[in-house]
Amino acid sequence: MPTKINFVERLPSVQPCAYDECMVTGEVQKAKYVYYRCTGHRGKCGLPRFREEDIANRLGEPLRGLQVPPEVVSQIVSMLRETNPALLRRSGC
Ligand SMILES: [Zn+2]
Repeated sequence: MPTKINFVERLPSVQPCAYDECMVTGEVQKAKYVYYRCTGHRGKCGLPRFREEDIANRLGEPLRGLQVPPEVVSQIVSMLRETNPALLRRSGC
């Protein structure tokens, strides 16, 4: 069984984008989902909007689903590794 991450601690609401060092901001939608997106202040950015829950699922089951491209996931994982190492330790990455 893949280990699922519980986002007991929220990701930082603002963190640097792995692509262009813009800010990635989180916003709550439908009072339930937290979406993260790059502000894109330096122009069009390759980082798609992603859902917090999607990242948790990808970390637990890296091969399932294609909504977020694998290379983007690895960018986000490396971003998290710097900003929130405790989170990834819990997932065994
Ligand atoms: Zn960006």
